Amino acid sequence: MTEHTLPKIAIIMAHAGGGHVTAARSLAEALEGKAQVVFLNLLDEHAPFPLNHLSAAYGPWVNYAPWTYQKIYELFSAPWSVEMIQRAAYPFVRNQVAAVLKAVAADLVISVHSVQVTIPLRALREISPQTPFVTVVTDPVTPPIAWFASDADLCVVATEPARKVALACGLPADRVQVIGLPVRRAFLTVCGQPKAALRAQLGLDPALRTVLLTGGGAGIGKLLAPARAIAGRLAASRTPAQMAIIAGNNRELLKRLRAQQWPLPVMLLGYVENMAEWMAASDLLITKAGPGTLAEAACVGLPVLITEFIPGQEAGNVSWVVDHQAGVYAPKPEQVAPLVDELLRPGNPQLELMAGQALNIARCDASEKIAQAALALYHRTAEV
Ligand code: UDP
Repeated sequence: MTEHTLPKIAIIMAHAGGGHVTAARSLAEALEGKAQVVFLNLLDEHAPFPLNHLSAAYGPWVNYAPWTYQKIYELFSAPWSVEMIQRAAYPFVRNQVAAVLKAVAADLVISVHSVQVTIPLRALREISPQTPFVTVVTDPVTPPIAWFASDADLCVVATEPARKVALACGLPADRVQVIGLPVRRAFLTVCGQPKAALRAQLGLDPALRTVLLTGGGAGIGKLLAPARAIAGRLAASRTPAQMAIIAGNNRELLKRLRAQQWPLPVMLLGYVENMAEWMAASDLLITKAGPGTLAEAACVGLPVLITEFIPGQEAGNVSWVVDHQAGVYAPKPEQVAPLVDELLRPGNPQLELMAGQALNIARCDASEKIAQAALALYHRTAEV
């Protein structure tokens, strides 16, 4: 097939955090050679003010006012309020959304962003009722109900609890598939590569065990205090270790990290494109309960110490990891450094056990399977 005969698939995403971008890019990789993919960011690029600033506000908002974020999450958890908000917003955004969808003229539309499901689907049904619409739910365990439009043609979720939410929202069982969260192809490529070689490539000491800290794409979480406490504790106990801290797009955090004196080798980074290598080179990940990050860590068998979660939508992610013994949850700042020290202590088998459990819950082929399911839907619809 030439590029022109391939089906055109539009993937609707947004730049809030890193998870939606990763999901969109993972699916585009899996569709390479099988579809022409275009990304649509209706929220950031086509919605009216102030909606077009929501994504940019996500990092600071969650970092500095998490409880107000929770209130919004709760608002999007009640069917009546979701319905009311979407009905009220539709007349203001309908023309713009419909114009963009019409111009793109996709053969199939996929949304990986909960705020951009019902409205684009409604507009799509008005301008092109036969075009299939797929939702790929990137909140694996406790997804807000805004994800679930009952007339979506296919809804992909990551876990059984999420499937139940989809069914409760009125989706017929034959349109819901439990597959997993889309993960970048690089996480498959790095699997099995020796940690020492990866560390050397990344400029780390190949011989030292490595603790990685991240806070999602927006560098969310109070990373500075735990990072300092961990470094101090590991240095005091003379544990041979090094740290890498990835601040994502949080420039202020990176600046503050760079202003510190560190008592052991520490690599400080902003947004990295090669997260797969950083994770595969590490022995322990310290992070908020970001779904993309947790799914990726599982794929490379990286144990996780979760320090916090975004109230509401990330709550279920903690139990997903902890119940499967792929990681631990330490919400109190004073717990983190002693726990890291304990986990890295020579002879402690816990990291290895958690690494094995992480691999058991990994769905490294999720992107490929979602791409296949979407293409199968396209072909079925095209035949009718
Ligand atoms: N990420 C990245 N580079 C960075 C920081 C994060 O590629 O420097 C990616 C990370 O690998 C994951 C995503 O951003 O795929 C973060 O998604 P998650 O769902 O964990 O959290 P969010 O950022 O959406 O809150």
